[in-house]
Amino acid sequence: MADSDLHFPPAEVAPRLLDWYGLDGRDLPWRNTRDPYRIWLSEIMLQQTTVTAVIGYYQRFLNNLPTVEQLASAPPGKIIDLWAGLGYYARARNLHAAAKVVVEEFAGIFPSTVDELQKLPGVGRSTAGAIAALAFARRAPILDGNVRRILCRLFALREPPRSTAAEKQLWQWAERLTPEQDVHDYTQAIMDLGATVCVPRKPLCTDCPLNDLCHACQLGLEQELPLQQATKKLPLRHEVALLLERQGGYLVRRRLSSSFLGGLWEFPSIGLNDREPAEDKLPLLMADLGVTGEAQFLGSISHIYSHFRLELQIYQLSIGDLPQVAETENDWCAAAQLSDLALHGAHKKALGKLPGEIGG
Ligand code: SF4
Repeated sequence: MADSDLHFPPAEVAPRLLDWYGLDGRDLPWRNTRDPYRIWLSEIMLQQTTVTAVIGYYQRFLNNLPTVEQLASAPPGKIIDLWAGLGYYARARNLHAAAKVVVEEFAGIFPSTVDELQKLPGVGRSTAGAIAALAFARRAPILDGNVRRILCRLFALREPPRSTAAEKQLWQWAERLTPEQDVHDYTQAIMDLGATVCVPRKPLCTDCPLNDLCHACQLGLEQELPLQQATKKLPLRHEVALLLERQGGYLVRRRLSSSFLGGLWEFPSIGLNDREPAEDKLPLLMADLGVTGEAQFLGSISHIYSHFRLELQIYQLSIGDLPQVAETENDWCAAAQLSDLALHGAHKKALGKLPGEIGG
């Protein structure tokens, strides 16, 4: 793409962002390091998660696993437990797999090029660009959610930003705007601008250093762009979960690491066929667990996973100290610790149906 295709000289952008960043950039725990392990960890944690939510997790993770070697050799359950509450757990599993690749294939030294970084599980082109720029000062464009939004507005892109054509165009623009020098600070700056000024709703255009270059702003389209992506209809699944309580503890089990949501915890549950009443399957679940009694219906919740929507009906049953409860693959978790457990999304929400302090 020639510079004449842009409605301003691309070299205008970086100096403005760098000046703005010098005055208004955020001081974040992963900003004052060039350690690729720390930068990679922060970039993975920040995918689909806000800075405020990430800071505590980032520090706790590093306190427990300060090096890539320690991460690579940690048991999978430990990593999931350190991730508990951050969501999108595939990131934690990929983190573990990627640490093993760094240790086994790169002798524990992080690769520094975008192409090599993209060979790590969970590292896409934008994350690879961010690590290359932030840890190794390589000129590499990024196109995370914040940058995508800025570019859609700056160039008034009027097509869904995830379409193939838009994707190609956005990467070309990102490439053109990335400077040869100061790529570390430029990358931080453009991410910050999207997080604090060019925000999804009501961008603060009067505070923006790109204000007079911005096509969307000139056209009054800053709130309409980026265009919304059409959402796909997800298939619906039904399950029933039993919150089985014994002497202040609840029965939980860890999902197989090879399965969907592997390594995460959940309450015992069973799938329902379409329109099948929960009362038909609940006895089967209870028989599997070796318990009897009248379970109390607490309510239903709905949760969206990446490729289906789950309607979960929640029952509770309190039992005495019955030795026959099937404990082989299960564990008891004290009620007060349930909220710290790495339960997957729907089962985390199920806690809200419990009365008193556990349910909040
Ligand atoms: S002027 Fe407004 S819409 Fe344009 S980049 Fe700046 S904050 Fe975003």
